[in-house]
Amino acid sequence: QVTLDNYAELAWQKMQQQLPCIVQDSLTGTVLMQGYVTPEAVAETLQSGWVTFFSRSKQRLWTKGEQSGNRLQLVSLHSDCDNDSLLALVEPLGPTCHLGTNSCFAEASAPLLQQLEQTIVQRQQQASSASYTAKLLQQGINKVAQKVGEEGVEVALAAVAEDRDALLNESADLLFHLLLALRARDCELKDVLAVLAERRR
Ligand code: AMP
Ligand code: ZN
Ligand code: ZN
Ligand code: ZN
Repeated sequence: QVTLDNYAELAWQKMQQQLPCIVQDSLTGTVLMQGYVTPEAVAETLQSGWVTFFSRSKQRLWTKGEQSGNRLQLVSLHSDCDNDSLLALVEPLGPTCHLGTNSCFAEASAPLLQQLEQTIVQRQQQASSASYTAKLLQQGINKVAQKVGEEGVEVALAAVAEDRDALLNESADLLFHLLLALRARDCELKDVLAVLAERRR
């Protein structure tokens, strides 16, 4: 972990005073953006709690979101194995990319479960009768809840039966239907991850 006490010892000299800093959503793991930092930018980030880069186009310190308000609240800052690259774990206040998407790397940077969550939203909006997802959601929360219960039981039975293949498949079913239940209640996986993160503290 990089702190105000040790940031001066990063490989600044080797990197001519500029290190790449990768920004990742601390809850979802989504890679949000990448920028460059100077020692001053790191100090500002650690002191203020808002991720601040050295903008090579502006040639000055740039606190992400200073105009748009879409700031990146620092959770923790980490260096790589040889101290020449940084990873900032953050809670974003809004879409990180100035083009309006959560990530500058668009959807490719989202973890698989978050991508599945997006697909579920799309299926629900398209409301095609060919879509199992859309149909199940249209049938209402009771039907979705019943499926979650069934898949949960199937996971339990497969686990007890020591059937690895069944356990993996039923777990996939359960995760999918769990996402449907969350969607039906206007909750997101991110909200669940926030509960888990809170428990870890
Ligand atoms: P902001 O820091 O969000 O207030 O945006 C200020 C300016 O910085 C924008 O007009 C863009 O030119 C630039 N900018 C904002 N977000 C990004 C980003 N994720 N990557 C690169 N440039 C950005
Ligand atoms: Zn390195
Ligand atoms: Zn962008
Ligand atoms: Zn199943």
